[in-house]
Order: sequence, then structure tokens, then C-alpha cells
Amino acid sequence: MTDQHEPRVAVVTGGGSGIGRAIARRLAADGLTVAIVDLNAAAAEAVAEELHAEGHAAAAFGDVDVSDRALVNAAIERVRTELGPPLVLVNNAGLQGFDKFLSITDETWDRIMAINLNGPFYLCQAVLPDMIEAGWGRIVNISSSSAQGGQPFMTHYVSSKAGLIGLTKALALEFGPKGITVNTIPPGFIDTPMLRDSESKGLLGGKVEDHETRTPVRRIGTPDDIANACSFLVDERSGYITGQVIGVNGGRNT
Ligand code: NAD
Repeated sequence: MTDQHEPRVAVVTGGGSGIGRAIARRLAADGLTVAIVDLNAAAAEAVAEELHAEGHAAAAFGDVDVSDRALVNAAIERVRTELGPPLVLVNNAGLQGFDKFLSITDETWDRIMAINLNGPFYLCQAVLPDMIEAGWGRIVNISSSSAQGGQPFMTHYVSSKAGLIGLTKALALEFGPKGITVNTIPPGFIDTPMLRDSESKGLLGGKVEDHETRTPVRRIGTPDDIANACSFLVDERSGYITGQVIGVNGGRNT
């Protein structure tokens, strides 16, 4: 067990935008040192600068494509050397896709799987040795409510996120005895650039705001809704929660 007063290092992939940015901000406010890992270097840097300006400990690791194992390993090695051993991992980076099933190409299928499922596989393999060594770790995988309910024209995306739920459950069983918990949050309808992109392509059946009345709690989700759940799952007090699918969706999926 590590010293609980020592700031823990959290890796947040896709931390440069939307949900990942909110998670990075929340964990930094909780007192963790945050490594913002993102393909978009400028976005990662901007979030790190925001956090520095607020007096928090953070560093940007840009130009890291989570689907590239060598880049992932190099980034985690830098995190280890520059910040300390990563004992919290949030696999948040993701790519969505909209295609009629019969039109999905191998290339599109493989790219979505590579980012949404291979990426978390590489990240988990890169950080688990540090967690095992510490006898403590927290992994949170950001999946999708679409993997709970299905979603037409998103078979590749839904399949990748369903795979991430399976990865979560299997890892939780294998690493529970090492003091490591692994959970997944499947967000539903969160107002981020990704959701607004879907809106602009006419894929939401109207505007984002039209969905307020279709959501039991009568509002659209915010990135902070996901960040708050993530903060809870990486906390010391959540050690008896593992292998769970913690839906944060305003009641849209139960
Ligand atoms: P977003 O597009 O706003 O942010 C995604 C971030 O991931 C960006 O900073 C992007 O640069 C980064 N990224 C993309 N590909 C990457 C790669 N290959 N390597 C490293 N970084 C990469 O999206 P968001 O809405 O904040 O989504 C975050 C996660 O939540 C995704 O996994 C998404 O599938 C999931 N999700 C979102 C919603 C929603 O309603 N917004 C719903 C369900 C699931």
C-alpha cells in the first residue's frame, strides 16, 4: 500500500476535450497529479495550463495515439519518470462512427476497435505493473450507454464499447486480489464536442436540447456528471466496488 497522503498520479486519456477534460479537472481538484494523454497535443497542453493556473499538478502528454502500443508505452514511461508511478487510469479517449452496417469497411471497423478497445488494452498493460507493485490501483473505463441498449448505424462503435465492458469485468476478477479495482462508466447523452458533432450531422433526430423531455431527469448530461462518478470510483472509499457498470445517463438506460 502506498502512502495515502502522497499525491497519486492519474492518467486520463482523451483528457484534452469534453468528458476527459472534466475528469482531469475533477481529479486534479481532488488532489491527484494528472497526466493528460491525448492525440491532440494543443488540447492536452491547454488543459494542463488551465490546471497549473489554478494551482494544480498536471502535465500534458500530447501526440499520443492510444491505438499505438509503442506511443502508449513511451508516454507511460515518461509519466513514471516525470510524475511518479501511475496508480489511477481513466481510459476515456474514444472515436465514434456512423455507418450503415452493410457499408462498414474493414478500415473503419479496425480504426474504431483500435482506439476504443485496443487502446485501453495497451494502457492497462502499461500501468498494471505499477499498481501491482503498489498493491493499489484504480482503473475506470469510459464505455457507452449504447453498449447497454444498442444503437443503429453504430455497430462498430457499440461493439467496441461492449468489448470494453467485458475487459472491465475480466480485469476486475484477475486483479481484485492485488488491491486494484476496475469499473466502467457508460455515459449517456453528455453535452460534449462529440455529441454536438452528431447533432450537426443530423444523427440525433433533432437538436441536443430536444432530448431533455426524453430524459427522465429532464436535462442533458454534462461532462461533470461523468467526472463526479469517476472521482467517486477512484477514491479510497470505493475499494469494495469492482467489475461494475455504473450508468450515468439521467435514467435513459436502466
Ligand atoms: P470528445 O470528442 O469531446 O473528446 C475525445 C478526446 O479523445 C479528444 O480530446 C480527442 O483528441 C481524444 N482522442 C481521440 N482519439 C484519440 C486517440 N486515438 N488517442 C488519444 N486521444 C484520442 O468526446 P467525449 O464526448 O468527451 O467522449 C469521451 C468518451 O466518452 C469517449 O470514449 C466516448 O466514446 C464516450 N462517450 C461519450 C458520450 C457522450 O454523450 N458524449 C456518450 C457515450 C460515450
